[in-house]
Amino acid sequence: MSRPPGNLALAPFGTTIFAEMSALAVRHGAINLGQGFPDVDGPPELLEAAVAAIRGGRNQYPPGAGVPELLAAIAAHQRRFYGLEVDPEREVLVTVGATEAIASVVLGLCSPGDEVVTFEPYYDSYAATIALAGAVRRTSVLRFPDFAVDEESLRAAFSSRTRMVLLNSPHNPTGKVFSRAELELICALAREHDAWVVTDEVYEHLVFDGLAHVPVATLPGMWERTLTISSAGKTFSATGWKVGWVVGPAEAVAAARAVKQFLTYVASGPFQPAVATGLELGDEVYAALATSLQAKRDLLCEGLVRAGLPISRPAGTYFVVADAAPLGARDALEFCRALPELAGVVGVPVSVFHDDQEAARTLVRFAFCKRDEVLLSAVDRLARLASG
Ligand code: PMP
Ligand code: GLN
Repeated sequence: MSRPPGNLALAPFGTTIFAEMSALAVRHGAINLGQGFPDVDGPPELLEAAVAAIRGGRNQYPPGAGVPELLAAIAAHQRRFYGLEVDPEREVLVTVGATEAIASVVLGLCSPGDEVVTFEPYYDSYAATIALAGAVRRTSVLRFPDFAVDEESLRAAFSSRTRMVLLNSPHNPTGKVFSRAELELICALAREHDAWVVTDEVYEHLVFDGLAHVPVATLPGMWERTLTISSAGKTFSATGWKVGWVVGPAEAVAAARAVKQFLTYVASGPFQPAVATGLELGDEVYAALATSLQAKRDLLCEGLVRAGLPISRPAGTYFVVADAAPLGARDALEFCRALPELAGVVGVPVSVFHDDQEAARTLVRFAFCKRDEVLLSAVDRLARLASG
């Protein structure tokens, strides 16, 4: 065959960095602070609810939009934490993780040639999904160490073709929590250009230092043009369950559902009622997760600083970004490919989440959602590399 296999739209995107780095971790027996997943299970009630659902015969196709108790639990969660009134039947869609939510929304709302404004570094599936939709990515760079929104470049990213802004707060990979003023600027620009705001809030409950998560949909006048995406993966330390959701105005949710039905139709039968149980757990369960992760953030950040690395102290998520130049990094991708063998630690190069590679030439993302002894051992290894 003269033409190689592969969708041309996906040609620039090889294997995801998460797969590459997790494979390296296994090959070298290194500590994996690359891919963001916790190494302990979430609330036991959630796990038991999944077992009960499987034993109770919830093993066939769930309804297309999601099982009724999960739709109701998502609506109740939006009311309880954010005061939003959501119609569970028309304004919620359950997806296969936030990943399918992102794909369904981008493919559902964008036509070829539409522009999508996003920040870089961006979560890797954004770029690939925008490309699959035939849409065009327009970015504004968040720069180390404070990752503040740059108003001039953000304004310049908007045009008469802007269809949506794809935003993520708390932000992967930087750990940044967008300020209310930054969110308001983004929303003002979206309104000015009559664009949708798609807001990926998978880390909504992983916010530290007493900061409050501000959902875009709660800002004045924003419900009508906002689609909110979240997932059970982070909130309940169950990244392998892949139960996510989209919440927003009925017509836009229907547009996402139209795509989702042809991607997977449905999934996660027994996990859906289990996530409903999780969403109904008391506030103390949510608070305990944030408190525990904040302590882990401190542990890893202090260790990195002791090893001589400049860091950006994250206000949320699983991740901290450090400048690995003092460890000899010249190019973060090459450095991260060598690090498992050099030091027995895996990190992720931030440059792979950028169009502007120079903005993150020596920056590495490390995950702190790991047991304390694992983090301590990782910082020991990095300190040895630094002093060696
Ligand atoms: N968005 C962001 C910002 C993420 O970090 C992730 C992965 N953790 C996802 C989406 C995908 O979430 P899920 O695993 O629920 O598909
Ligand atoms: N979201 C996780 C991360 O950023 C993992 C995502 C994945 O494996 N695709 O590390």
